Amino acid sequence: LASRLFHPEDTVIQVNGCKIGGGNVTIMAGPCSVESEEQLMTIAHAVKKEGAHILRGGAYKPRTSPYSFQGMGEEGLKLLQKAKEATGMPIVTEVMDQENFDVVEQYADILQIGARNMQNFSLLKRAGKSNKPILLKRGLSATIEELLMSAEYIMSKGNQNVILCERGIRTFETYTRNTLDLSAITVIKELSHLPIIIDPSHATGKWSMVEPLSKGAIAVGADGLIIEVHHQPELALSDGAQSLKPEKFARLMRAVEKIAAIE
Ligand code: PEP
Ligand code: MN
Repeated sequence: LASRLFHPEDTVIQVNGCKIGGGNVTIMAGPCSVESEEQLMTIAHAVKKEGAHILRGGAYKPRTSPYSFQGMGEEGLKLLQKAKEATGMPIVTEVMDQENFDVVEQYADILQIGARNMQNFSLLKRAGKSNKPILLKRGLSATIEELLMSAEYIMSKGNQNVILCERGIRTFETYTRNTLDLSAITVIKELSHLPIIIDPSHATGKWSMVEPLSKGAIAVGADGLIIEVHHQPELALSDGAQSLKPEKFARLMRAVEKIAAIE
């Protein structure tokens, strides 16, 4: 179902008036984690002002350490809803397990399945029964074929609205958090009709590399970007080192607008 042989035309996914895929460039931006009302509202208004289309923010966080901040849970989802009402931006947020699927599904406009859950097959099957689009992130050590097979799990249960996301993979290189596989864009465009976006924040782990790789991704033909933004990165409860301050996000937007038309 994910194959271009089966479906030659690009899939275009509509979310509250935003189009994803088919030559549109969609920018998703926001904090790694929802931390407080003040934090989320500040960042939501800032990214909206610079032209972001969709607000990201995690309420349930898949952290490497169980002692790290785990997210605000449903409180975080309620804040996302408030930010959506205030800015008009639809929400993308992660669903980590089946236990919380129903509640996340109620609030989210796009459900994110994180890299660590790319092959959580029961979660993929549940996502396939949802009527919300799914943002499926490539696993840390997953091949492109495995990513497409995970999309197939979702689609075979009925949900055809899958957005793929390359977020860097594990290689021998340790300077960056992960290695961004820009060739995945061209491979996926050949093999599949599904939209593919790039997450340069998790791919690099370093804010200074986010703008150059965003430009690269758009030049290669990505359907969009998902970018972590924080007004006080040094105080962020997760992923501060890779988060752009609003003024740096503004610069990124102006740089990518020179490469592709962003509506
Ligand atoms: C995230 O988007 O905040 C996240 C945890 O991403 P990934 O699953 O790609 O690590
Ligand atoms: Mn993050």
